Amino acid sequence: QSLTEIKKRGKLIVGTEPTFPPFEFVDEKNQVVGFDIDIANELAKRLGVKLEIVNLPFDSLIPALLQGKIDLIIAGMTITEERAKVVDFSKPYFEANQAIVVRKDGRFEPKKLEELVGKKVAVQLGTTGDLVISEINGIQVVRFQKFTDAFLELQNGRVDAVVLDEAPAKAYVKKFPKFLISAVIDTGETYGIAVKKGNKELLNFVNQTLDILKGSGVYNKLIQKWFE
Ligand code: GLN
Repeated sequence: QSLTEIKKRGKLIVGTEPTFPPFEFVDEKNQVVGFDIDIANELAKRLGVKLEIVNLPFDSLIPALLQGKIDLIIAGMTITEERAKVVDFSKPYFEANQAIVVRKDGRFEPKKLEELVGKKVAVQLGTTGDLVISEINGIQVVRFQKFTDAFLELQNGRVDAVVLDEAPAKAYVKKFPKFLISAVIDTGETYGIAVKKGNKELLNFVNQTLDILKGSGVYNKLIQKWFE
């Protein structure tokens, strides 16, 4: 989808997975909102088109982009070598690490990933948290499409921990005071907006807009809005 085609169509189609607060989540009015959604709105506004958000499981986002069902992925997606083989990423727009979330009953507060060996750990299918945990032998990995379901399992005691990006971990812990972050694992990740490989025009537009948002203070306002 070239910029011309997107303008002709009159809408920018963005794929996301909305159980990842404060980047994308469903609010009380049943609307998908968040930091990423505001960025998506800025992109659409600057193109002079409407924004359409398409909710998909996280591991279906790249396939949907490859099939041309969506123009962009904005989903707190970490720029990884593997993913960069099949999609093109914008410049980084956020930094992230992984966090271990457990129940706040004092029974199990792992400080390192290695302490998860022999335990049941919930992750979201296809995320970097999934990758990090799956690399360690002896952890029983339980994969969910929605983080909301992963946290339900933690609440019910069917898993011992959830591993996910730090900012959403903080958001879930804030919402559910029965959980706590027992450790943050320094994975040094950065998020990027993904476009179909070779779509230079759209990628340049995204990168330029990110620069403008940062330069004009809009980016900082959004950080304050969603993270403070
Ligand atoms: N940043 C993580 C990843 O890219 C998780 C993203 C998400 O769950 N939305 O895998």
